[in-house]
Amino acid sequence: MAESAAPLMTSLQAIVGDFHVITSAVDTAPYVTDWRERYRGQARAVVRPGSTAEVAAVARVCAEHGVPIVPQGGNTGLCGGATPHAGGDEIVMQLSRLNRVRDIDTENATMTVEAGVPLAAVQHAAAEAGLLLPLSLAAEGSCAIGGNLSTNAGGTAVLRYGNARELVLGLEIVLADGRVWDGLRGLRKDNTGYDLKQLFLGSEGTLGIITAAVLKLFPRPQTSATAWVAVKDVAAAVRLLGVVRQALGDRLTGFELISADCVTLTRAQFRALPDPLPGHHWYVLLQADDASANSPLLAQVEAALADCLSDELARDAVIAQSEAQAAELWNLREHISEAQKREGPNMKHDISLPVSRIAAFLARAKEALDTALPGVRYVVFGHLGDGNLHYNLSAPVGVPSSTFIEQTSRANRIVYDLVAELGGSFSAEHGVGQMKRTEMERYKAPIELELMRRMKRALDPHGILNPGKVL
Ligand code: FAD
Ligand code: ZN
Repeated sequence: MAESAAPLMTSLQAIVGDFHVITSAVDTAPYVTDWRERYRGQARAVVRPGSTAEVAAVARVCAEHGVPIVPQGGNTGLCGGATPHAGGDEIVMQLSRLNRVRDIDTENATMTVEAGVPLAAVQHAAAEAGLLLPLSLAAEGSCAIGGNLSTNAGGTAVLRYGNARELVLGLEIVLADGRVWDGLRGLRKDNTGYDLKQLFLGSEGTLGIITAAVLKLFPRPQTSATAWVAVKDVAAAVRLLGVVRQALGDRLTGFELISADCVTLTRAQFRALPDPLPGHHWYVLLQADDASANSPLLAQVEAALADCLSDELARDAVIAQSEAQAAELWNLREHISEAQKREGPNMKHDISLPVSRIAAFLARAKEALDTALPGVRYVVFGHLGDGNLHYNLSAPVGVPSSTFIEQTSRANRIVYDLVAELGGSFSAEHGVGQMKRTEMERYKAPIELELMRRMKRALDPHGILNPGKVL
């Protein structure tokens, strides 16, 4: 608006202190670029409030000046949602100083944490109290719980515990005009009108700023089993999922699909990682946990896998014999994204489908892409138990990655049209950010988009919160 930049900066400095208003190009650089270095923006400043009151005061000043805010947690998002636009008129609101665990109520099995606490630290605090926060993903050392909730993060234990959304009982929100909604309730039952917190979960900072949350905690597993299973193909992996679920019930925590190409690629970048059962095309990494220390879980996993081997659903299997071995298997899984990043730019598709249609999707997508992009390399892995695949495409051998990714729009059209035809979603985990707005227009029903725009106008009429993201 008419205001000059100086009073804005002076007001921001008065709220958070000079030290926490960063303006130099060198110091703002890490905050205006995303994890994949795919988006580079500019900001008037990176502002680091240290409390909910400071977040609210910053939001109020920004609303007065008409200055947009880009909320940012750990900046590990994969869709450019936390990256400002190139115009340089926004501020990045970096939330990592909101780093307190406010309360753990062991009898209620809940914890109240501030938005900037890294996910790994939230898990650790829950563990210290003898409980489990089951949200777990490869970026957990760097991402923040506020970012996880704003993206409704998934990860490797969704099969049993649900997405981030399912783990939240209450939220504290700073609205676009700087008012604070204290919805930090620790109730598992509360039918008093609309469930407002659901609007903010997964809204990628476009409707409000999450400053704190009440999270559900669970009993810590006392018995665990981790297995690496070679399967003939993806259809066999899907059938294996059914058998193992029947045998273990909801003790099956995670069921991950990994192609042999992923293993090769990851081990090329991280040589110390294991190659548990070489010579197959597809693998499943499964994890089962039981809260009881005297559980027959391990024997049940062994029996289920033995049945699968004799039915030829599985071709070979190893069960981790120690926590260290289990950690090694998970390490292999969790280094795939980083290995792909090291290899160079690639095309990521974070899709979901009904589990029953995944094998058909893979066959049809391969046929179409082999024709459109001859020699394309498939890096396919993901949370098969949730119907969520990371369907990533890398450059053919000998083709520079930078040339290959020029074909992204073409590949996206093939992949996402097929996903839509089969009843799936073009974004299962990572969200929309600035990367998938075209897909929103193409695949969301007009009525759905209209309702979303109305909600955006109701909560943020002046477009202060993360404009140009999601919608
Ligand atoms: P940021 O990247 O900082 O922000 C993400 C979005 O949320 C942005 O739109 C931002 O504006 C908004 N935001 C951040 N904090 C707040 C807040 N307090 N209030 C309002 N809005 C806010 N994701 C999965 O779901 N599952 C996975 O398994 C997974 N694996 C990953 C593995 C790797 C190696 C990497 C790099 C990423 C992975 N991701 C995964 C993606 C990413 O880690 C998640 O999206 C994560 O939840 C983002 O958290 P963050 O704190 O880094 O958020
Ligand atoms: Zn994932």
